[in-house]
Amino acid sequence: MTAKDINGKAIAESIRARVKEQVSQRVAAGKMPPGLATVLVGENPASQVYVRNKQKACAEAGIRSFGHELPADASQQQVEDLICELNMNPNVHGILVQLPLPGHLDEEKVLNTISLDKDVDGFHPINIGRLAQKGREPLFVPCTPAGVMYMLEQELPTLEGVNAVVLGRSNIVGMPVALLLVRANATVTICHSRTRDLPDVVRQADVLVAAVGRAQMVKKEWVKPGAVVIDVGINRIADPTHPKGSRLVGDVDYAGVREVAGAITPVPGGVGPMTIAMLLQNTLHAAELYDKKAN
Ligand code: NDP
Repeated sequence: MTAKDINGKAIAESIRARVKEQVSQRVAAGKMPPGLATVLVGENPASQVYVRNKQKACAEAGIRSFGHELPADASQQQVEDLICELNMNPNVHGILVQLPLPGHLDEEKVLNTISLDKDVDGFHPINIGRLAQKGREPLFVPCTPAGVMYMLEQELPTLEGVNAVVLGRSNIVGMPVALLLVRANATVTICHSRTRDLPDVVRQADVLVAAVGRAQMVKKEWVKPGAVVIDVGINRIADPTHPKGSRLVGDVDYAGVREVAGAITPVPGGVGPMTIAMLLQNTLHAAELYDKKAN
């Protein structure tokens, strides 16, 4: 059996096209275009690339972006003051603080400063808390986990009762994915660095989401035949045959696992493109929330 490839790039493109259409309808109706403020502290090259890509995607969708850069030694007060200013700015509907922040800054305090209505990354402690509570709805769902769920919902008729295993329990991927799967009525097991007999646990999964940051860790023998495998990992490995001398791989041994899984996301071209698509969708949602409050 060869797994079906889940084409995240194509799914993301369809979401981006839909957002673009909805944005142009808003503007044609005389409403403000959605606006996204990005806050980048320091000069982490990867973060600079991520922020640039997000701004480019905004421009393509007709979303205005407002880039703010602070030096690596910016104080907690400086960062929080900027966010307070953006909270008040009526042209800004969503605020994204690019993580990780430099070590001297208190990340939780910074995220807590973002207005709940503008928390398009969904990392505000209240939004995450609501995700964990029955009967409560977060205003925004974190983008990568939302992208994972979108792909799973496209792939499976229902998640109800399926055995889902999430590899990783980080605040930005593993834990919110697990909470979303629970909300979708899956039976969820969360694995981490202290999990015993990991391959045996993973083998129970009808749905496997890997977010560990370990290149090609999940092997063919770990995967239940027919399972749906979502690989969130992005790892760079040396590859002398590649023009750059290296290439990107996921947390799953794609070539091997593809032989047993029912469906699998490739890396690159799987979860990665979904994250930006979900950010655009969340920013549009933030603008709609703003309209509702203003009326
Ligand atoms: P973190 O490093 O924050 O978390 C990794 C998690 O994996 C932790 O919970 C850790 O356990 C667990 N883990 C680490 N090693 C093992 C192991 N050997 N066995 C079992 N569990 C292990 O990573 P992130 O969640 O931020 O990111 C995970 C991956 O996803 C990375 O490759 C990252 O680049 C990628 N990513 C991709 C995105 C996208 O858009 N596609 C967006 C964000 C991240 P413990 O808690 O015990 O330490």
